[in-house]
Amino acid sequence: MRKLSFAVLACLMSLPLAAARRSDTPKAEDKAKAEVIVGCSDTKLYHKANCKWVKEIEKAGTRVDFKSVAEAKKAGMKPCEDCKPGN
Ligand SMILES: [Zn+2]
Repeated sequence: MRKLSFAVLACLMSLPLAAARRSDTPKAEDKAKAEVIVGCSDTKLYHKANCKWVKEIEKAGTRVDFKSVAEAKKAGMKPCEDCKPGN
């Protein structure tokens, strides 16, 4: 009995470690390749992350992040005419 419960315990303890290791790798990859699109819930426009308007959006507190231009379009957003995201 004791041996069995120890094995179960050891198995349970190794699970979070494995999960943490797995989630570490994709995160780093996402950062490198992901194109962050910043939307504004007020103006309904979306921008590249380096657009001058992003600072204003953050000040206004209306920032909405999208993983891609397609996602922003799906949400009914329109591209900013200054930074032309997706071009
Ligand atoms: Zn812009």
